[in-house]
Amino acid sequence: MKSYISTWPPLAPAQPFPRRLAILGSTGSIGVSALRVVAGHPELFQVVALAGGRNAKRLAEQATKFRPALLAVLDETAARELRDLLPTGYAPEILVGPAAFEAIAAGPDSDLVLSAIVGAAGFLPTLAAANAGKRIALANKESLVLGGLLIRKACRESGALILPVDSEHNALFQALCGHADADGKELSKLILTASGGPFRGRDAAFLASVTPAQALNHPNWSMGAKISVDSASLMNKGLEVIEACHLYGLPVTQVDVLVHPQSIVHSLVEYIDGSQLAHLGVPDMRIPIAHCLCFPHRVELNMPRLDLAQVGGLTFERADEGLFPCLRLAKEAYAASPSHPAVLNAANEVAVELFLGGSIGFMDIPRLIESELARHTALPKDADAGQLLAVDAETRLRVRKAAGE
Ligand code: NDP
Repeated sequence: MKSYISTWPPLAPAQPFPRRLAILGSTGSIGVSALRVVAGHPELFQVVALAGGRNAKRLAEQATKFRPALLAVLDETAARELRDLLPTGYAPEILVGPAAFEAIAAGPDSDLVLSAIVGAAGFLPTLAAANAGKRIALANKESLVLGGLLIRKACRESGALILPVDSEHNALFQALCGHADADGKELSKLILTASGGPFRGRDAAFLASVTPAQALNHPNWSMGAKISVDSASLMNKGLEVIEACHLYGLPVTQVDVLVHPQSIVHSLVEYIDGSQLAHLGVPDMRIPIAHCLCFPHRVELNMPRLDLAQVGGLTFERADEGLFPCLRLAKEAYAASPSHPAVLNAANEVAVELFLGGSIGFMDIPRLIESELARHTALPKDADAGQLLAVDAETRLRVRKAAGE
């Protein structure tokens, strides 16, 4: 394939165990699941660094159990609370503030970085890990949406390897491993599955009045708040289309979306002979996380196995981009320019926050995003991180203003 940044096994250098693991976003849903994987296989990992945001209590519990030498939090309040909660005799270095996450991502102590901060805050740390040539288990899809070209370039130049944690992209990766030709000529398309979220089959009148609690109530997956709302609006699938284009070097026209409410088929790859290869499993993020952390090996996860007879039926339908405009907006943004996805992502993050806070309605999310995309003038293709982050910051301010904040 032309410019994928995940790689096939022959290109992945062997990485011995125990792997020295740094987790960015350890206190979140992905971070917690990753530490469950680590706890099940302590001989395979040495946790060298854990970074949370503001949840000092959870970070203190994790640090007390895994004893990394390095911790990071977002602000001084969290750092003080964290220091008070750590047991006597254990005195890790505690870094504070956004730069701390970049330092951990690029630091010499780790050879494997799990990027699981939520939102654009994960971009610079992920870029730092890519520049430092790390093996990156990537959950933070927003970093590819915001600055995918820069991360791809950093990986090419440093030899960094991205392994996709997102269940759909991990499924694609597994269906591609060992099958695709080196330049992707035998690949026809990628098919991302989507559960459809909690509002599948609802009408416009219903969507106009949904509450944050309803949007957070995902039928199949237990996730953080932001991605749960993104799943309800189908923005999550839109972000994933962009993520897939960057990971596998394909145009947006070669990435399809298929709604599959049971969340058993996690995605499919179609080859030019018409074969479609799918990855199936129970909807539990420990499977793709373990696949990335242990790649190319697999480990026992002690969870219920998929029983297709019990599932009974698997169904598929097209996504309704009329009712859920976020999916269309994401595809249009990716096709428009490399900076339009940065606008899409920033506008979405603010709109989701405002929706969760009760200041705007659910359907205001796509409305605010669409108006920001319409007014954006594309940056040049070689825009740097500073330029993209300036677009991100300006967009956030404008969306707040447009929402009357
Ligand atoms: P959560 O909201 O559960 O956790 C987010 C993590 O990021 C927490 O550790 C939080 O710290 C930290 N954080 C939040 N803001 C900042 C910031 N400004 N700077 C540094 N750290 C910050 O999110 P998820 O675990 O659900 O998602 C994480 C990423 O993984 C997202 O990009 C998401 O799209 C992706 N993903 C998640 C999946 C899932 O099943 N959850 C599936 C596939 C992808 P604290 O809580 O301590 O403040």
